Amino acid sequence: MSYRLHAILSAALFTLLSFGKVSALEPMPVFSSAVMAMPAPTMPDPISISPSYDLENPASYLYPEWDNEQSISNYGDLKLPDTVFISMEGYRMPTDDSARITDAFGYRPRRGRMHNGLDVKVQIGDTIRAAFDGKVRVADYQRKGYGHYLVLRHPNGLETVYGHMSKKLVEENQVVHAGDPIGLGGNTGRSTGSHLHFETRLAGHAINPALMFDFPNYSAVTDCYMYVSKTAPTYYKVKKGDTLGAIASRNQTSVSSLCKLNNMKSTSILREGQTIRVK
Ligand SMILES: [Zn+2]
Repeated sequence: MSYRLHAILSAALFTLLSFGKVSALEPMPVFSSAVMAMPAPTMPDPISISPSYDLENPASYLYPEWDNEQSISNYGDLKLPDTVFISMEGYRMPTDDSARITDAFGYRPRRGRMHNGLDVKVQIGDTIRAAFDGKVRVADYQRKGYGHYLVLRHPNGLETVYGHMSKKLVEENQVVHAGDPIGLGGNTGRSTGSHLHFETRLAGHAINPALMFDFPNYSAVTDCYMYVSKTAPTYYKVKKGDTLGAIASRNQTSVSSLCKLNNMKSTSILREGQTIRVK
């Protein structure tokens, strides 16, 4: 095992262990300084996390193909690693100033569907900027959807989506740098009132952009994120007074599946500080 891979895996395990419960559905922030008071293993340098920094073929380690027609959300059988680090290194805010969020990421009960991005208040004609270095994968127009929109692919593995713009300033397959103007704010497509619809996706999986970009405070939320897939193992550190039943119910699982995962019996005694796998 290479040192780099080992460092990444150690950091991954460390994070899982130190935070006890890792949500399998939501990407979680990786803390690199204050919270990480323990000496080793340390977080790998964000630059070393991106296996390659090739703007002509961004994140080719995750995406086997470069396809301008590929939909934003459907990557078919593309298999993501269980854990992916997403570095915020070199980010730029897509808007020129701090901006209000007019609609959050998540399920919209009223419309019965997911809202896969953040709605950020901008005026028509405001400059929209590339969030990271990357390459324009899609520059298109959807009358009933995103309006004038762009999809950029970045070396950190993310694809960012910019919707409802009044104008696109870049073309498909163009290499862009973080902060470059890529479009102008607008109200095109299915939109009421001028705003930027901004998405962050990892191989099609929509991640809440507010976990990475803090538009009201005009800054990144943290330097690096760890995306944990639903199938990745999840660990829990036993606390004083824990029982298998309590751990099972807290993690939406059963005592019998905990026993199977950890090769233990339901009568086994738990030690404080012991690490058990819960998913
Ligand atoms: Zn939206």
